[in-house]
Amino acid sequence: MKVLKFGGTSVGSEQSLNHVKAIVEACNEQVIVVVSALGGVTNQLIQMTQLAISHDAAYEPMLQDVKNRHLQIIDAVVPEERQQECKGVIEAFIDEGLASFYALLYANRDLAPDFVDRVSDAIVAHGEIMSSAIVTAMLDGAVPHFSPNFIKTADTATERILDAELTKQLTREEFAHRTEPIHVAQGFIAADAKTGEKTNLGRGGSDFTAAIIAAALDADSLEIWTDVDGFMTADPRKDPTAQVIPEMTYEQAQVMCDAGAKVIYAPTLAPVAAKGIPVWVKNTFNPQAPGTVIQGN
Ligand code: ADP
Ligand code: ASP
Ligand code: MG
Repeated sequence: MKVLKFGGTSVGSEQSLNHVKAIVEACNEQVIVVVSALGGVTNQLIQMTQLAISHDAAYEPMLQDVKNRHLQIIDAVVPEERQQECKGVIEAFIDEGLASFYALLYANRDLAPDFVDRVSDAIVAHGEIMSSAIVTAMLDGAVPHFSPNFIKTADTATERILDAELTKQLTREEFAHRTEPIHVAQGFIAADAKTGEKTNLGRGGSDFTAAIIAAALDADSLEIWTDVDGFMTADPRKDPTAQVIPEMTYEQAQVMCDAGAKVIYAPTLAPVAAKGIPVWVKNTFNPQAPGTVIQGN
């Protein structure tokens, strides 16, 4: 069994989603697909939250743009027999879920900061909830999972952390005895272990979700599918001479992640390194490229 994580660019367009479909369908073992929100959507959800908090109605047309983008993607990639149902799901998330959350922030001037934070977390979770609905509908026979049911966080006095033990146990229960070949879950989003309210693993956290699932289930490998040919000597956006590194140890990769290589979210490597699970970094837009494998000491 392996875990495949597709980032925002990889699920952001018709062309990229067709690659995702081909990559998943080419697997001849059980796969758990972990998805980010459509590229740019998390930023938009946060920007709309800020507008609503500032009582600026400019969030409304932005929300319609987000809705239209999702509906257009459904027309392009979801098989016809599942399009109407999938569109209905997205429309409900936007017109009932998100629209009410934003209206609440927009209309009220005296909300407690803690309440606003909780509403903001509930809002931002919709990016992955909507992308996963589309990816599930796109893939024949895919089984949907809801990550907040098994990825749990806890708040300490100073920060929000993963409740690792509870998450491991619930993740095993969620996927144990499942024999279907393709499963889909949201990256990034989680729930508070005590209250059940939506939380998340921090920006870029979908990589971490995939690693947590891979480690809990003793997966054979974790594949991070992104928009570059592999883990490179530098960020290719900043350094055009950057080269793909074919093989790295967990430690070498960790040093570069800690120094800001955002191709992998820094907390991702520890759970898979502890289990010796190899991590592949591959390009959704160029699947033939060998990519990078991270393994060993
Ligand atoms: P995703 O949405 O797939 O998670 P990210 O934008 O989070 O993608 O990460 C991929 C990006 O990371 C690349 O487009 C690249 O610009 C950037 N990046 C930064 N450092 C590196 C590096 N050392 N190797 C590869 N990519 C890097
Ligand atoms: N969608 C989230 C973000 O933009 C999580 C992720 O992409 O990994 O930060
Ligand atoms: Mg990322």
